[in-house]
Amino acid sequence: MTPPPRPAAILFDLDDTLISYSGERREAWAETLAPLADRLGGRGVDDVFKAMDAEMRWFWSEPRRHREGRLDMQAARLRICAGGFARLGIADAALTHEVALAFHANREKRIRLFDDAHRVLDTLKASGFRLGLITNGEAGAQRGKVERFELGPRFHHIQIEGELGLGKPEPAAYAHALGRLEATAAETWIVGDNLEWEVAVPQRLGFARAIWFDGHGRGLPAKSEVRPTHSLGLLRDLLPMVGLAAV
Ligand SMILES: [Mg+2]
Repeated sequence: MTPPPRPAAILFDLDDTLISYSGERREAWAETLAPLADRLGGRGVDDVFKAMDAEMRWFWSEPRRHREGRLDMQAARLRICAGGFARLGIADAALTHEVALAFHANREKRIRLFDDAHRVLDTLKASGFRLGLITNGEAGAQRGKVERFELGPRFHHIQIEGELGLGKPEPAAYAHALGRLEATAAETWIVGDNLEWEVAVPQRLGFARAIWFDGHGRGLPAKSEVRPTHSLGLLRDLLPMVGLAAV
């Protein structure tokens, strides 16, 4: 069997691909809600967590609402908290504000780089691959994560939706990144955790490989219509796929 040709370029997603963003969401909610137990209208912390989680899933389930929300995260957090409390019959604007702010802080401090991310990126870059980071979301928040986790110098091109005014899944967003990397889709692989943005759409756009990253080991959702041809549980498993030794 002949090995597949090496890609000229590889595009990476940021949240839940290079960094663990949603991995400790439950812990962040628990820390946020525990000190407020006596203000939750008799509801247990677990009930409120479930309501917030349900509201969050609902909020992020619709593409247009998702786009507006990710470009104004403070408004999105307030809306989710208000909606979560509304599911429980709690209407308390001051509490909503407090919870939105505290949840944000408690989540931020839990965001971490996946252990092997730097090693994998450095190995790929040193081996001559052109690397791009393509992330949706606010300019300030996403650029802040790029700096906090020292990702800037590791890429030939960094593309943030809030800075460029263009995001996944718009075909022009991928085309812009490919142009900056001087590669065609057919020469490029893309790696990310979002089945639509990093698998289905890139497959339609002719990327050589669209690799689904499942860093939290959740498995493919049962209802998923997207069938990734390649999946990764660890970033370092990408290296043998491009013909490099493991690190
Ligand atoms: Mg992601």
